[in-house]
Amino acid sequence: MVSTSSVNQVDSSVIETISLLGIPVHRVTMEGAVNQIASFVREGGSHQVITADASSLVIAQTDPEFREIIKRADLVTADGAGLLWAARRTGRAFPERVSGVDLVDRLCGQAAEKGFRLCFIGASPGVAETAARRMGARYPGCHIVFTRDGYFKPEEEPQIVRQIQAAQPDVVFAALGMPKQEKWLARRRQELGAPVLVGVGGSFDVLSGNVRRAPLWLRKRNLEWFWRLILNPRKIVKVKTLPRFVWLVLRSQRAGS
Ligand code: UDP
Repeated sequence: MVSTSSVNQVDSSVIETISLLGIPVHRVTMEGAVNQIASFVREGGSHQVITADASSLVIAQTDPEFREIIKRADLVTADGAGLLWAARRTGRAFPERVSGVDLVDRLCGQAAEKGFRLCFIGASPGVAETAARRMGARYPGCHIVFTRDGYFKPEEEPQIVRQIQAAQPDVVFAALGMPKQEKWLARRRQELGAPVLVGVGGSFDVLSGNVRRAPLWLRKRNLEWFWRLILNPRKIVKVKTLPRFVWLVLRSQRAGS
């Protein structure tokens, strides 16, 4: 079902959502998302943030654990051309795409200004460290208090969690791929104890300079997925979920009309 509604009262302001395939996605600008996350940090507690793309909504249709995590998340942003298209069909478009990689970049800027402590966990060995170093150089004062690759064994997890606890981050960015990162963060939410937990997919690969971002003209045309596919043909698995997303959206609209 594709519909619109208003939920999630946070910081005494209501963020409107657009419900796509039964998942409420917040209608928020990048600026709004960054401000909201900053207010989550000030509030304390624990907040999960998800940057949702078309494939994540398709996965959520058949993965009840993931579906519940997205539905319970405190902030869900629209990350991708597919969601922007689906929302336009409801007549209430998202203001812009809010991607994981842009969110990490903007929050590093905020961290430098406001003194937030950040944790980067995920990607191949060395990548999170390089991304952290580059962010530190771009935003002097940006305090990245813990980095670690995302290829750890289950038996290593308790120690990693203890190290993160000791580092006391305000924001944990986990780049383990969707939906693994969302499930890991949801499972470890209480122990991690950080006010904000964000799954950020391939962001560290881009921020470390290992993977080049699409040129701006492609991004402006919402064709970043095409660029990523050319750089990494294994992304075809993800791209192949797009026709299913389109079909599910059209079917839900027909059912609703
Ligand atoms: N990854 C990881 N641990 C794993 C599986 C994946 O750290 O067990 C990392 C992988 O190295 C990559 C990221 O997770 O940096 C996933 O990137 P991708 O672009 O595939 O994610 P998406 O944004 O499509 O979810």
